[in-house]
Amino acid sequence: MNLPPFTKELLLTAYRWSTRQRRLELAREFQMKGTYPATILFYHRVADVGQNSWTINQENFKRHLDWIEKNSKFASLEDIRKSQMNGHRTVPMVGITFDDGYKENCDFAIPHLIERRIPCTYFVSTHFVETGDPFPHDLAIGQSSPPNSKSDIAQMAAEGITIGAHSHTHPDFGQEMSDHQLRTEIHDVRKKLQDWSQQPVLYFAFPFGLAKNITQRAIDFVFDAGFECFVSAAGGHNWPGFDANHLQRVHGDPGMAAVANWLTLDPRKLSSKSKIIYDREKGPSCPPSYPSSLPKA
Ligand SMILES: [Zn+2]
Repeated sequence: MNLPPFTKELLLTAYRWSTRQRRLELAREFQMKGTYPATILFYHRVADVGQNSWTINQENFKRHLDWIEKNSKFASLEDIRKSQMNGHRTVPMVGITFDDGYKENCDFAIPHLIERRIPCTYFVSTHFVETGDPFPHDLAIGQSSPPNSKSDIAQMAAEGITIGAHSHTHPDFGQEMSDHQLRTEIHDVRKKLQDWSQQPVLYFAFPFGLAKNITQRAIDFVFDAGFECFVSAAGGHNWPGFDANHLQRVHGDPGMAAVANWLTLDPRKLSSKSKIIYDREKGPSCPPSYPSSLPKA
């Protein structure tokens, strides 16, 4: 059934309130046992023009942040990974991430995050930074929002934003790819972003981010390139004591009701397992070393 967005928001809000008691019980239990899950949101583009399903306007983005600040605790991916590894989390940590690298994010979203000292990891596809070409998913719907420049990346990094990799050309890694392509899309991107940001680049976000867009072979290349962790976009919470080499993320763009539903422990979502199954043995030894120079937002 295809409901209008406003109706969806209303229904989801009604569902959240009808399950409020159960959510409060769960929150108390997780707090007491130190088993609170962390939720990582991903956004793409914050702008007031050219709306689409991967764009949120400035006012709504600020509303999300205000709500999260009131109800949860903002955390960097580094801090979320630490509590994944030490197996203890008594507060609802929320990570903020961006994918692709849209220039308009530097108009409001990024300065606003920096001003509020909210940690953020910004995943960049390097081809678009180098060429200024619009993203293929925008062209497909007749739009062409400009990508970030190298100096945007350098400035964001200098101001405390953590830069992550999101491939070179934004391919679907679920498709057949040669070793050469995988090195170009993974290894070379890490080198470039470290050079541009003057930061250690430790996180890789798979484009599209669903189980069908991620293969064991690509994951092996990610760890071989020196990344400490990959992130997906198939939804799901991150439970303390479990996987710190793969962090699951939830779509932030669709609206406040969906974000609030995830962040207040929807009982239906809690039992869902990660759909991304991979061989951890091939990953880095755990715990990884954290560079002490990693900038903090
Ligand atoms: Zn993307």
